[in-house]
Amino acid sequence: MRNTQIGIIGGGQLGMFLLETAIEFPAHISIFDPDPHCSASFFTNSFTQGEFTNPDQIIAFGESCDVIVYETEKVHLGALKQLEKNGKKILASVQSLEWIHDKGIQKEKLKSLGFPVPDFKLVSKEEIQQYNGPFPIVFKWRKDGYDGKGVHIIRSKTDLEKIKATEGMFEELTPIKHEISVLIARDNQGNVAIYPPIEMVFDQEANLVDYLIAPARISSELEKKLIKLSTELAHKCDFEGMYAIEYFVDTSEKILVNEIAPRPHNSGHHTLSANVTSQYEQLIRLALNLPLGSTETLTPCVMVNLIGEGEPGPTQYKGIEKAFTIPNVQYMFYGKSEVRPNRKMGHALILESDINTALNRIQDIRNSLSIISYE
Ligand code: ADP
Repeated sequence: MRNTQIGIIGGGQLGMFLLETAIEFPAHISIFDPDPHCSASFFTNSFTQGEFTNPDQIIAFGESCDVIVYETEKVHLGALKQLEKNGKKILASVQSLEWIHDKGIQKEKLKSLGFPVPDFKLVSKEEIQQYNGPFPIVFKWRKDGYDGKGVHIIRSKTDLEKIKATEGMFEELTPIKHEISVLIARDNQGNVAIYPPIEMVFDQEANLVDYLIAPARISSELEKKLIKLSTELAHKCDFEGMYAIEYFVDTSEKILVNEIAPRPHNSGHHTLSANVTSQYEQLIRLALNLPLGSTETLTPCVMVNLIGEGEPGPTQYKGIEKAFTIPNVQYMFYGKSEVRPNRKMGHALILESDINTALNRIQDIRNSLSIISYE
């Protein structure tokens, strides 16, 4: 096997972890991102600056690679199709990105294949204000939403009037008991590697994952159902790549698919330390046509996002010395030079065999460390 040239589109924290992993493989790596100071840029001398939505720039970058992987759904679809036509391997498959990148088409596809989803209705921007209830209801943008941006819980006509006119969808408000993520890698021969379900606990105000627990604290019966459903979904949709399937489990224990990400996911950072093979490594293995790795859990883990607070400005890690005295914690900082409120600046993995001990450590971390700007 010769060295493979892997192009990573997107140099945020996901791209950075992909790059760090790929360095240990027989591969050369280049990064494409609009921001020359993105997290991954510090690890490479092969960096291309360009826009995700610019097809010429994406094609020019892709032509210099053997395999292209991406960490964002925003990448120009037509450009990836062209590269695929020119014989480049793209992961996750362009076929899957095509229906996943639009939440409306994604839900329609999942429903048509018989997978359980919350009730929904697609609406044009003109139709949004015609909605007359019942309330509460969820309104979502079909494209370009992330980290809760583009998801609104509408409780009244006044709330409705405040939302931006954009192609979107109304969705029933699910009474959520658990939010679960299942990470699954699949190759083009139909082999899968699936991780134990992960429990995501949301910060309702910031609409961001607050912390997650791996493996999830759910019954083995529910775990089996989630594994079965995810495997069926991956096969039926002919996945090729590394995917995260996000689920709601409602108060009557009914499972609903919320959304799919065709890439490594924020809910899988712990796999770097808590599982035999990380989600990033699975994608690199797929890029190099190597067999998928074991997903076995080495240790239970709680992952906490370290998010920016206060005014935007140059990054300062206040209380970091104290934070490093907390036992059994691994910190991973993303090297972002500017802090913004609710921006993901890093994460902490609390590696403890007892989950309650790990959960208590979250507060210790919060009490010690804050990521804010210089005055
Ligand atoms: P994003 O792409 O920003 O992650 P999601 O569709 O996952 O958007 O929504 C973000 C969060 O909003 C979810 O994790 C959940 O907490 C809440 N949410 C989204 N859809 C619903 C729904 N139908 N019912 C209840 N809560 C929802």
